[in-house]
Amino acid sequence: MEPLETIIGLFVEHGARAYLGEPVSQLEHALQAARLAVEQDASDALVVAALLHDIGHLVDDHAADADERGVDERHEDKGDRFLCQYFEKDVTEPIRLHVSAKRYLCAADDVYLSRLSPASIRSLELQGGPMSRVEVVAFASLPYADAAIALRVWDDEAKLPGLEVPGLGEYIPYLQRTLMRTAVKR
Ligand code: FE
Repeated sequence: MEPLETIIGLFVEHGARAYLGEPVSQLEHALQAARLAVEQDASDALVVAALLHDIGHLVDDHAADADERGVDERHEDKGDRFLCQYFEKDVTEPIRLHVSAKRYLCAADDVYLSRLSPASIRSLELQGGPMSRVEVVAFASLPYADAAIALRVWDDEAKLPGLEVPGLGEYIPYLQRTLMRTAVKR
């Protein structure tokens, strides 16, 4: 199957799943995150990263209730492994780092920590809690740290029940442009 079809297929098949204790579905969450990226004039790669940042939850049938079961499914790594076949690092790295970015922001920004949703606080513990000072310095020097932090902030805001946002079709050109870039290089 073509990459574009595979990706859209995952949302069509599994997008109605609940987004881990939040009042929106996986698809609504993805669309709201992507919308925020567009509103901030993000690059094509980062818009696609925002749309696909939780795809790790959709490629794995056991992920739906992971945090109720008290396990960290490492959905950021699953997403990264899946997307590496199709996209370059400017898409995959912010996704791989978006959970670390939350641990970073919790350590570096008190206001951020105080605004996290209850479900996000619960998963923070499973994910290792706020970063240590050494981890903060190391994270900030990573090549895609800024992109991951931007993505993280959209991720946290993309949880509004019933918000009207453009549908999946809006992002097909973004996906095509980023997929084409990879295809041309291969
Ligand atoms: Fe998310």
